[in-house]
Amino acid sequence: MAAEDANDLRRALEKNEIIPYFQPLVELRTGLLGGFEVLARWQHPRRGLIPPNEFIPLAEAAGLNGLLTGNLLRASFDAARNIPDHLTLSINISLTQLTDLSLPKHIRAAAEQAGFPLNRLILEITESALVGNTEHAYCIATELKEQGSRLALDDFGTGYSSLRHLQSLPFDELKIDASFVRSMDHTRESRKIAAAIVGLGNSLSLTTVAEGVETQAIADMLLWLGCDVGQGWLYGRPVPPEELPETLAARLNPPPPSTLTEPRSAAANSTLPLRLEALPTQRLAQLNAIYDGVPVGLAFLDRNLRYVSVNKRLAEMHDLPVASHLNRYFADILPEKFPECEPYLLRALDGEATAGLEICLPDARRRGQQCTFLISYQPARDEVDEVIGVSISVVDITRRKQAEQALIESEDHYRHTVELNPQVPWTADANGVILDVSPRCEELTGISSQEMASGGWLRIVHPDDLPRAIQEWNDSVRTASFYDSEYRVLVREGVWRWMRSRAAPRLDEEGKVLRWYGTVEDIQDHRQAVEALRRSEARLQAVFDAVPFGIVIAGAPHGNVVMSNPRAEDILRSTVAPPAMIDDYCAERDSYRGDPSTEYPLANAIMNGKTIGPKEYLRHHSDGTSAWISLTAVPVLDDDGKVSGGVVAIQDIDEEKRKLQSLSDLNLVLQTKIETRQ
Ligand code: C2E
Ligand code: CA
Ligand code: CA
Repeated sequence: MAAEDANDLRRALEKNEIIPYFQPLVELRTGLLGGFEVLARWQHPRRGLIPPNEFIPLAEAAGLNGLLTGNLLRASFDAARNIPDHLTLSINISLTQLTDLSLPKHIRAAAEQAGFPLNRLILEITESALVGNTEHAYCIATELKEQGSRLALDDFGTGYSSLRHLQSLPFDELKIDASFVRSMDHTRESRKIAAAIVGLGNSLSLTTVAEGVETQAIADMLLWLGCDVGQGWLYGRPVPPEELPETLAARLNPPPPSTLTEPRSAAANSTLPLRLEALPTQRLAQLNAIYDGVPVGLAFLDRNLRYVSVNKRLAEMHDLPVASHLNRYFADILPEKFPECEPYLLRALDGEATAGLEICLPDARRRGQQCTFLISYQPARDEVDEVIGVSISVVDITRRKQAEQALIESEDHYRHTVELNPQVPWTADANGVILDVSPRCEELTGISSQEMASGGWLRIVHPDDLPRAIQEWNDSVRTASFYDSEYRVLVREGVWRWMRSRAAPRLDEEGKVLRWYGTVEDIQDHRQAVEALRRSEARLQAVFDAVPFGIVIAGAPHGNVVMSNPRAEDILRSTVAPPAMIDDYCAERDSYRGDPSTEYPLANAIMNGKTIGPKEYLRHHSDGTSAWISLTAVPVLDDDGKVSGGVVAIQDIDEEKRKLQSLSDLNLVLQTKIETRQ
């Protein structure tokens, strides 16, 4: 080292040519700014910006280190006066400086003067030269910590910063040297070392910081490994004090969502494992609870297909305790299923995942029953992407399978019913929009199911019936009530035929309509038959009403009055309200009894197939008058000769009877006269 260099540096320190540059430290999980590392630069009047690697060794050799650190601290605190108060500042201290017992005091004085709280200061310690008095170093480090500052072990993993330091000084942070980090994406060894350092840091409850993070891929890997903080060009290069506000503005808020979902942000990437906010031991406990608690069977097999771990759920599915699985081969646990599963397990070991494999196992809880499981085999990889085993997940889909089967069966049943049924089934949604019409519809009308569903039915309903049919359907849909409507439909043959359309809503638990299920039925023939019947009935009624004698019809099996014609009512001077007994209506029990031994002789006789009469009797009316009536009762037999009812014919014979009476009276008078003359 040239003496003039040392002088030059001394001059530079006096003239404040050594200035702090600030590089962001970012929380990997959130992308949020956590603080800055201060990196020294020499703004040389002639040589321009000189990097620290060139002048720090000079300062150390010339014993100017303390001075340099003091100057830099003041300038840093000054520049960081306006940064938000949750941000930290990290300052580099070489281990040789830890021989200077006055270091903590100097640092405190500078911080107090600038009003910068010491608990926001982190001291990064590098072993850049021969280690001095370790006892002193320990005292100084402890004092710095007592002042509230934190200690970071810098360049960890290089020859200078070793495990020994980690043990001897009370560090809070571990900084993974950039040489491992930068090459993580292409060197397996670097990944392994980075992973090991993060693991070491986590197990010692230290914050792990990765320096030299240049790409998002590396940041993602670090996050995956569980590293806490990143530093590097990905987040920003060191900037001079005047650029601090700009850097703050850019990095203070979390990155916007658009960049989060893109190559950036590991934090937002759902394929990355969940990081639990807890200490490693708590994390482990939480993970274990999740592992056992998920409603999915989980297991991990090593490359020899031996169970390394299995969760409670899977153990239950196998009907074996968890412990009985450990270290045992898959083939021993599930000997019957191994041949079926082996090819997939081997594929997983080759790096190929299998999802959706279905296997059946005897039900552990219900003897004689089978369970269906949906299985996935995923290759499990270490942090350097090597397959180290198979991760198994198993979901019990027995109930889903059963439901599927039931559905298939009911569909089958439905199809059969449809095929055998002359009706045309259809469905509509909750709003009454036709969803589906049976293909039978096409046979009937020539309009396809699809056309039907898209309003085709409106075109084939008779225009006279259409408004009513629509109105009735809308009413049913609105009130969720049964639909029953008859209208004419233009069928394939080009004629109108009467149809009956009926539908019932299927409701959910809350009474809301899920779907309408309906049928359309050709009722043309039925309607015609009814119409024919109605007409012959009318004809019969006309005849019935016109005959000059009374007719009362009685029905089987008891002989109740079914109907009577007006003439009968006229003669009997009373109307009848069915189901009066025929005897009560037609006969005056006092005047006429066919067979006194039974209560209803008329009814009894005709129901037994006997004819009664003609019989004559004097009927006493309620107005005190009386009239002669003739009554004939005949049974009516059906085709099989069984009595299906009876007819009672009633004649008013009062006039004749009285004429005859008067004639016989006259005869009697004449006879008497003749006899008296003789
Ligand atoms: P360091 O403490 O390990 O600082 C990190 C170095 O890595 C810095 O170099 C920084 O600019 C650089 N760096 C940061 N991100 C990246 C990146 O993504 N890619 C690459 N390739 N490099 C990156 P710099 O500023 O040249 O500092 C070099 C070393 O000088 C520092 O290493 C530190 O050991 C030392 N140093 C700097 N300032 C001081 C100081 O004030 N006092 C002491 N004692 N040493 C200092
Ligand atoms: Ca450093
Ligand atoms: Ca470093």
